[in-house]
Amino acid sequence: MSYDAVVRKYDACVVGAGHNGLTCACYLAKAGLKVKVLERRGVVGGAAVTEEFHPGFRNSVAAYTVSLLQAKVIDDLGLAGHGLRIVERPLSNFLPLENGYLKVGGGVEATQREFARFSQRDAKRLPSYWKSLERIADVLRAMALETPPNVGGGVRDLLRLLSNAGRLKKLDMGARRDLLGLFTRSAADWLEDWFESEPVRAAFGFDAVVGAYASPYHPGTAYVLLHHCFGEVNGKRGIWGHAIGGMGAITQALAAEARRLGVEIECGVAVEKILDGKVVTRNGEVAARAIVANVNPKLLFLELVDSARLFDARLAVLLRSIKQPAIADDSPRNRIPVAPDLLCVLHQHAGGDLGNIAKCFRHGIGYFVVPQDIPTRHAAHEG
Ligand SMILES: Cc1cc2nc3c(=O)[nH]c(=O)nc-3n(C[C@H](O)[C@H](O)[C@H](O)COP(=O)(O)OP(=O)(O)OC[C@H]3O[C@@H](n4cnc5c(N)ncnc54)[C@H](O)[C@@H]3O)c2cc1C
Repeated sequence: MSYDAVVRKYDACVVGAGHNGLTCACYLAKAGLKVKVLERRGVVGGAAVTEEFHPGFRNSVAAYTVSLLQAKVIDDLGLAGHGLRIVERPLSNFLPLENGYLKVGGGVEATQREFARFSQRDAKRLPSYWKSLERIADVLRAMALETPPNVGGGVRDLLRLLSNAGRLKKLDMGARRDLLGLFTRSAADWLEDWFESEPVRAAFGFDAVVGAYASPYHPGTAYVLLHHCFGEVNGKRGIWGHAIGGMGAITQALAAEARRLGVEIECGVAVEKILDGKVVTRNGEVAARAIVANVNPKLLFLELVDSARLFDARLAVLLRSIKQPAIADDSPRNRIPVAPDLLCVLHQHAGGDLGNIAKCFRHGIGYFVVPQDIPTRHAAHEG
């Protein structure tokens, strides 16, 4: 399609149709605004998509499990009415080991029973571990649905900042220490303080690096552990689930609601430049009172906007130093890394029942951790 160099006028133009861009477009349209969404790829969804990787076989190609999708968003946008159904995952992780396996999930007691096979001490410490994360997650949860203060903003932003600081001040000294640790330390250091057993640390350590492409020894990765108790599925806190139909079911439901609200979504159109009040694509320009960027900051500030007008050179250097993994648009990206002997392990775990094995693959286990996935401290430092 060509715009024939005609400048279309919208109240808002959203660049990128990831789940955040689609959600934003829905709320803006609900508020009565005329909204346009431009998506570079042929499908909406960004990292939350379901695609065919082999004729007849579809999977979630990047993000694969749900918990952080706000219940408020699901309700406000009537996503269940567009077919979205999320089922709980009975297990979080399955760690095959040389002489057995470790399962995490299925409730505190079930996980404690698993941990006890490796360390009685770790099993006993598990409830306190969850409690320490929960205390911090509760504070962050309360902030998640509020507009964050704008750095350098006016009095209203200062008041917002003070209100958030007030929440943190209510934490006791132990919780404040935990908060600082979770935001600054590595997952490995954090977990070593809590647990003595290597398999237990490995199973949790994986949670801290999945999708983040960092070593569990990297400072700051402890924060990712919080994500695993921060969310909810069908009203149950700290649980992760699977969207039936893959992650694309979420973004397809969002797109359906956006269209119902009158949002124009156009795929296969990359935004090349963002200027004052308009975006430039190869098809022409789209004008809007507000441009909403649902793309990463590196792309936004270094390529799409005129960065020289926005900030000083030091920030550009900082942005350039952000490492991003390249995920090719056409790669199959199957989400299940399979160890050579994994099927044997699963067979053993599922009691030889093929139906059970199929169930593990379908909903039971979000991700299989294979020993090769877990860098040793030595390897991580080398890398
Ligand atoms: C491998 C991996 C696994 C993950 N697993 C999980 C998980 O299991 N659960 C979970 O909750 N989170 C997971 N995450 C994180 C989660 O997927 C992301 O936080 C989330 O998808 C971000 O959504 P978004 O809408 O902000 O951006 P994105 O999903 O990145 O969407 C950005 C959109 O902008 C489009 N775009 C880019 N440039 C342009 C342009 N110039 N013009 C127009 N459009 C453009 C892109 O094509 C894309 O569709 C994972 C991330 C990765 C990388």
